[in-house]
Amino acid sequence: MESTHISDFDGLDVHKCYQCGKCTAGCPVAEHMDISPNQLVRLAQLGAYDEALSCMAVWACVSCQTCTTRCPQSVDCAGVMDAFRQMAAEKGTAPPELQRVLMFQRAFLDSVRRNGRVNEIEMTVLFKTLGFLKDFSVPLLMKDALLAPKLMQRGKFHPVGEKVRDRAVVKRIFDRCMLDKG
Ligand code: SF4
Ligand code: SF4
Repeated sequence: MESTHISDFDGLDVHKCYQCGKCTAGCPVAEHMDISPNQLVRLAQLGAYDEALSCMAVWACVSCQTCTTRCPQSVDCAGVMDAFRQMAAEKGTAPPELQRVLMFQRAFLDSVRRNGRVNEIEMTVLFKTLGFLKDFSVPLLMKDALLAPKLMQRGKFHPVGEKVRDRAVVKRIFDRCMLDKG
């Protein structure tokens, strides 16, 4: 078990949880979770991160905020899910089947950070490169390549990306988010 890092859950009031289970009762995806939301809050209280950081539950969460809204103790249960997701992504403890999802999210956010909106070619190149560097699989690198022309024909894939004019604002938003996480 890792030691408790209270700062990871600062402002989420996990210490107030008395395990009433209302968060789990209202969660629309609780039945698809291997650890319920109230149990995850308990793990956060105890600083028992190992189990939480390798579970599927935090990735099944759709961030709907129902748990936070319903909590009689004002515990930010959805924030706990976010914090565990962030920690799992940083420590690389997410289940293996989710690693490509994380790579896609990273490629997507990188592109938005640079351009203010997603550049599909840039995002695809980065996503494919990250995947290739992980397992050196040429078939996976080439997978979907034949889809590109069809998607372009239907206007679903744009070879030329656009940038927003005031990218400094976008940079400030990203900087602020990273500061809040730090
Ligand atoms: S609803 Fe709030 S108090 Fe009840 S178990 Fe969930 S987090 Fe804890
Ligand atoms: S935010 Fe996540 S854990 Fe909370 S109710 Fe929605 S899906 Fe469930």
